[in-house]
Amino acid sequence: MALAFASTRSPEQKISFKEAVFRGLAPDGGLYHPDAVPDLRELFQTFSPDTGFIEIAGNTLQALLPSEFSTEEARAICQRAFPFSPILRKMDEDLSILELFHGPSCAFKDFGASFLAAVMDSILAGKDQRAVILTATSGDTGSAVARAFYGSSNIDVVILYPSGRVSPLQEKQLTTLGGNISALEVKGSFDDCQRMVKDAFVDRELIDRILLSSANSINLGRLLPQSFYYIWAAAQVSQDERPLLFCVPSGNFGNLTAGVLAWSWGLEVERFIAATNANDVVPEYLESGVFTPRPSVQTYSNAMDVGDPSNFERLLAIFGGDWEEMSAVITGDTVTDQETLRTIAEVEKKSGVFLCPHTAVGYLASRRFLEAYQGSGKPQIISLGTAAPGKFTEIVEEASGKKPPLPEQLAGVMELEKKSVMMENSLGALKEFLLGRFG
Ligand SMILES: *Cc1c(COP(=O)(O)O)cnc(C)c1O
Repeated sequence: MALAFASTRSPEQKISFKEAVFRGLAPDGGLYHPDAVPDLRELFQTFSPDTGFIEIAGNTLQALLPSEFSTEEARAICQRAFPFSPILRKMDEDLSILELFHGPSCAFKDFGASFLAAVMDSILAGKDQRAVILTATSGDTGSAVARAFYGSSNIDVVILYPSGRVSPLQEKQLTTLGGNISALEVKGSFDDCQRMVKDAFVDRELIDRILLSSANSINLGRLLPQSFYYIWAAAQVSQDERPLLFCVPSGNFGNLTAGVLAWSWGLEVERFIAATNANDVVPEYLESGVFTPRPSVQTYSNAMDVGDPSNFERLLAIFGGDWEEMSAVITGDTVTDQETLRTIAEVEKKSGVFLCPHTAVGYLASRRFLEAYQGSGKPQIISLGTAAPGKFTEIVEEASGKKPPLPEQLAGVMELEKKSVMMENSLGALKEFLLGRFG
């Protein structure tokens, strides 16, 4: 029986993974979600600390979607998607950091973006069809998407960003690739960029003439591959008898949802810790059973500043909307900005390891869980490292008094020449650009 996917809001209309990847968001506004829970326990048992990441990714993809990908196709897609790997860094006996920031944009979103690019490319390759990925960014996700699709021969990428409102490093990452990546510098805010993209997706003339697609973080093609590194990390510690916990610094909750999916397929995980900054609507729900989305507040871990996390809908779907079941598997914890700074300083001082502010949120939540742990059978925790500390030089330096090294992927980018197109903040201007270039 093949796994199919349906909107969280209308479970009866099923589509394939390949279709879901091009649609992004479901037409009813819901998120695509698996319609069944495959049992992969036997497969997971074949993985050991020696099994490579690409092998784990390819075998898992094929086992999930046997009717959509042959073993060879699954392997080729993962090979193309992941020229970089996760690294498990042991901090002490009980706690390790799963470093997910060794890809091209130095953040875990590279795994999802790069896999999505490889899948879309492989689907279009046989079809003599071109697609245009249209995406708005407030800074960070845009660069993961740009790097992932850079050099694709079937796909062009158009990124809209608010002029003067992204950091100089982020702007250079978005605007210096060239080739099939176009950067539009919009005279407006991030919300204006997002509105232009949304309007473009419903413009009849545009969608008739160009195969438009999105690559935002709710795309199933970005969610699914994020489960692979949980499976890989669990295999790395599979000789260890202790119960395993994952701690996930969370904002929009895609990363955590992918881990919980792997658990639902049979990965042996005792519990997940959902670590947030002051944007704590999910920890609050886990504690009280009441979900109250609200406007986000700004923190040092700004990629986690989300007041109404989209993937909460998927988490609810996994647990059939049952609060008790969800809170039996996920524990929440909230970390303040002051605690984040203190954690960065303490860890640097004690072990010489720099943490980015997001990773520090997860690290402190993991420490607190271990300290509060009562009873026998003390667990081990793998805490996810979501970005390289060198992407957040100012905050890490403010906290620790030392400058973290700039990752080699980013060194040099400041010297490259910016190539962007200035654009008025209107659908008309965007349309003219798209039709002129791709129509
Ligand atoms: C996106 C992001 C997060 C939050 O991940 P979600 O899947 O949105 O919960 C955490 N840290 C960094 C560095 C990020 O870029």
